[in-house]
Amino acid sequence: MLSSNSSQAGLQTRSQRFNQAQDPVSKLVFELSKLPGIGEKTATRLAYFILKQDAEYARALASALVNAKEKIGLCSRCFTFTDSDPCRVCSDSRRESSLLCVVERPSDVFSIEQTAVFRGFYHVLHGVLSPLEGIGPDELKIRELLSRIEQSAGFVHEVILATNPSVEGETTALYLARQLRPLGVRVTQLAHGIPVGGMIEYTDRQTIGKAMENRMEIS
Ligand SMILES: [Zn+2]
Repeated sequence: MLSSNSSQAGLQTRSQRFNQAQDPVSKLVFELSKLPGIGEKTATRLAYFILKQDAEYARALASALVNAKEKIGLCSRCFTFTDSDPCRVCSDSRRESSLLCVVERPSDVFSIEQTAVFRGFYHVLHGVLSPLEGIGPDELKIRELLSRIEQSAGFVHEVILATNPSVEGETTALYLARQLRPLGVRVTQLAHGIPVGGMIEYTDRQTIGKAMENRMEIS
C-alpha cells in the first residue's frame, strides 16, 4: 500500500530514494553511480556484471578496494598517492632537483612518468581553481608548493606548469605563475598542440590556435 507521503516522492532527491531502498542491488548501483563518469545506467550494468560473476570475484574486488584505501596515502612532499612516504619519485636521488612539474591530479604524474621524458620532481595540486565550485587557492596544495620552493633555497630553478588546457587549468596556471615569479624561479608551461598522429582537419580550433602560438623552429 502506498504511504500518505507518496505524492511527495517526486520531490525526493535520487540520493534519498536510494538510501531508503534497502535491497542490496539498489545499494550497489547507488555506490557505483558515485564514481566519476558513471551514470545510473552504467552503474546498473556494472552491478549486474558483478552479480553474474562468481562470489570470488566480488570478494577480490571488495578487498582490492579496501586494501588500496587503507594502504595508499598522500606523499608528504609531492602529494601524489603512494604506499610509502616519501613516494618512489621523491625518494629517487638520481632525479633533477632543479625541475618541479606542477600537475592537477595524481593520475597526471602517472601519465607523465609513462613518457619517461621528465626527470625532475612533481607537485600535485589536487584540483584547479574554480570560483563557481568554491575552489580557491586554500583548497589546493598551493601554499605547500610555494613553501616547498622557498625551502629549497634556490635548488628549484624551473617550475613547469602542467595543468590541463581547460579554462580552469589555464586560470590556475596564470595564478601560479604570478605567485611563483617573485620567488626567482623560471616558470614554463607545457606546449599544447596537435596530438602526435592527429590531423589538422580533425583538431579543434583552440588546439590549432595553441599549436600555432607555440610553433617552434624546425632544426
Ligand atoms: Zn612524492
